[in-house]
Amino acid sequence: MPSAALPVPVSGPPDGLAAGLPAGLAGGPGGPAARRRPAPPRHLADLDPAGRRAAAAELGHPRFRADQLSRHYFGRLTDDPGDMTDLPAGTRAALTAALLPRLLTAERELTCDQGTTRKALWRAFDGAYVESVLMRYPDRVTMCVSSQAGCGMACPFCATGQAGLTRNLSAAEIVAQVVAGARALASGEVPGGPGRISNVVFMGMGEPLANYASVLAAVRRLTDRVPGGLGISQRGITVSTVGLVPAIGRLASEGLSVRLAVSLHAPDDELRDELVPVNRRWQVAEVLAAAWAYAEATGRRVSVEYALIRDINDQAWRADALAALLAGQLAHVNLIPLNPTPGSRWTASRPRDMREFEARLAARGIPVTVRDTRGSQIDGACGQLAASNQADG
Ligand code: SF4
Repeated sequence: MPSAALPVPVSGPPDGLAAGLPAGLAGGPGGPAARRRPAPPRHLADLDPAGRRAAAAELGHPRFRADQLSRHYFGRLTDDPGDMTDLPAGTRAALTAALLPRLLTAERELTCDQGTTRKALWRAFDGAYVESVLMRYPDRVTMCVSSQAGCGMACPFCATGQAGLTRNLSAAEIVAQVVAGARALASGEVPGGPGRISNVVFMGMGEPLANYASVLAAVRRLTDRVPGGLGISQRGITVSTVGLVPAIGRLASEGLSVRLAVSLHAPDDELRDELVPVNRRWQVAEVLAAAWAYAEATGRRVSVEYALIRDINDQAWRADALAALLAGQLAHVNLIPLNPTPGSRWTASRPRDMREFEARLAARGIPVTVRDTRGSQIDGACGQLAASNQADG
């Protein structure tokens, strides 16, 4: 969901466990279900440039072939051997099969907002479903990507959380969602003429910091210059979390300037324990302390995400309590009218309550915006398209 909340390190400690998650909430590749699942095929986007050259050499090709393939994938956005006329005809098919396997197959695509919002449902090699959304605005194009198939965080108001975690995505599976969007833009398929992706938000399915190694590798691939990666500015990337405190600290030490978004959803532990169950492990004060340390280390303002849920967390006193927590900090609040999941008792706040909540924050000097709910007509909240696809059979 908009929790902000997927590769798959095939070795090393499970991310969820490394982050100190309670076992039942572990979203790492080490979750019990994840451990039994085969890893996605290796792809060059899982590897850094040195790793790609080593992989080319292991396959019996000159090391520079890895750079040529990387230019095709990240620069020309193609993985079709027919486009790679600079590679010897006899080796194209073998090289692309080994280093550019097709990871995601488009299962469904839905558009709205005159074609400027495009939501895709992808099927991975093992039948797992993930979703991504491309949103074109006059001044930017944002891709919202999934970092896990499903999510282990169990937030009760979220479609993805209800289905649980299927598995972590590999770095390359995350990057593939962005490459697909970049291709659609470059080819002029998206109304508004050819364009480029300026922003990537890890706010699709999953809790990004429960899949730390893959998310971090994906951030590097998204932001390294061609041929290392896609060359998107680090400042255009937002990594969201429900508040995995040790992983926030780790991210702060990476020397990146990506934005952190914290899905708070309640200012008090009593309610947050219910809305965001991982709060029982790391409470509000601890999560915010980690967020402020992140802001200090990176100089980036933290986004505080708050889904407004009718009669649950939208009372005036909670707005005041939230303002008190954020006073004087490098923070910005995004209020998100909850996109109700079919059959759920959780629904969006009344407009008047939203206005009151926003006004109370603004009156106390807290920068606040009500987030645009693009794509809500097309099962826009994450997990809903996958859930409806599974229900459709
Ligand atoms: S269950 Fe997962 S995807 Fe849903 S809101 Fe919680 S962290 Fe985000």
